[in-house]
Amino acid sequence: MLITNHVMSGAVVGALAPGPVSAFVLGVASHFTLDTVPHWGDEATFLQVAVVDGLVGLAAMGTIAATTPPDRRARVLAGMLGACAPDTDKPSEVFFGRSPFPEALDAWHKRIQRESPRRMPQEVVVATLGALLVRRLVRG
Ligand SMILES: [Zn+2]
Repeated sequence: MLITNHVMSGAVVGALAPGPVSAFVLGVASHFTLDTVPHWGDEATFLQVAVVDGLVGLAAMGTIAATTPPDRRARVLAGMLGACAPDTDKPSEVFFGRSPFPEALDAWHKRIQRESPRRMPQEVVVATLGALLVRRLVRG
């Protein structure tokens, strides 16, 4: 799943969580849950899409954090960070040649993916609905 969609789901989870620690933990859980839902994935174009998606996701995270009311900003940010944390293995492998996580966790993370190169339109729909939900729930 695109990291931008993990950012959106993490923001929603963070807005609904009682505090930053639970928001982070629920964000991580939301990541693995969404990875089991059929989504876009394409070995041939992964890196090109991942660079654009990473930048869009980072911009979304910054914009959401900056526009979230101060009373809920910490838990929204924690939810987004938790929701993105499991995918830090990808840039880590590119830049440092290895994942920061145990091999068994990475193997399981790869096994739960249900990817197809034909599902990019679905990712765009999920991102759009996510942005609308974030605007309503997070920014109030
Ligand atoms: Zn993942």
